[in-house]
Amino acid sequence: MDCIFCKIASGEIKTNIAYQDETAVAFPDINPKAPVHLLIIPRKHIECIADLTVDEEKLMGHLVSIANKLAQQQGISKSGYRLVINCGPHGGQVVPHIHIHLLGGRQMGRLG
Ligand code: 5GP
Ligand code: ZN
Repeated sequence: MDCIFCKIASGEIKTNIAYQDETAVAFPDINPKAPVHLLIIPRKHIECIADLTVDEEKLMGHLVSIANKLAQQQGISKSGYRLVINCGPHGGQVVPHIHIHLLGGRQMGRLG
């Protein structure tokens, strides 16, 4: 499959890996929007959160737990951080493989 995040997850494209286990991988965003900007992805290719099934609820919870652990490791737990999941064109999704953005290390703007 011609998916850049699948290739990162499989190791075909080399990236600094911040975390990995059997079901998930985390790595730095190539174009960081904040001092801390990591992407947390499932190894399984799921295009968008709209495609999630009930069976994948646990997987998504796992991704959030990883984001929380990484925030702690990065020392931004206390100052706070933002988790973002974009979905589809209006959501601003560019890479069609589910990913959680972990953003922190600066003050985020208000939504809207
Ligand atoms: P989206 O807009 O789909 O929610 O976010 C996609 C993110 O993936 C963007 O922030 C972009 O900088 C990042 N990105 C795109 N291609 C690559 C890549 O090859 N490697 C890494 N590490 N990040 C990427
Ligand atoms: Zn993929």
